Amino acid sequence: MPRLCSLLVDSHGEIHVSLKFAVDEQRLRVVTGSAHGSVMQTCQRCLEPVAVDVEAKVNLAMVLNEEQAKNLPRYYDPLIVEAEDVELLSLIEDELILSLPLVAYHEDCSIQTSFGDADEAARTQENKPNPFSVLAELKGKTDKS
Ligand SMILES: [Zn+2]
Repeated sequence: MPRLCSLLVDSHGEIHVSLKFAVDEQRLRVVTGSAHGSVMQTCQRCLEPVAVDVEAKVNLAMVLNEEQAKNLPRYYDPLIVEAEDVELLSLIEDELILSLPLVAYHEDCSIQTSFGDADEAARTQENKPNPFSVLAELKGKTDKS
């Protein structure tokens, strides 16, 4: 979903899509289901990444032309099928893009900042010599001899 990714901090994240293809009681060929996931946008307050939930509902009826689309029951969105292939992916992508917030914010940016500090602390810890590494070294020497 390149267009969705272009609005995000990075292209990491997963979108789960579940679609059902059926013929309804009016003999319309319908596609129903949903897509949802979590993506990263930039917080407009602290400029750090913020997780944003996206969701798309799909409630489509396949039609062959605009005329048929006009006659659909209102609870369906028309899916005009002109060729054999139907571009469902870009359609879902559109819906996901629409579900993005206009502006993304952390609920509380200070929590985000303290997470950052925790990462920093963890990294400093890693740089300290590990007491077990000395033992490992000794063990390595014994193994070699
Ligand atoms: Zn923030």
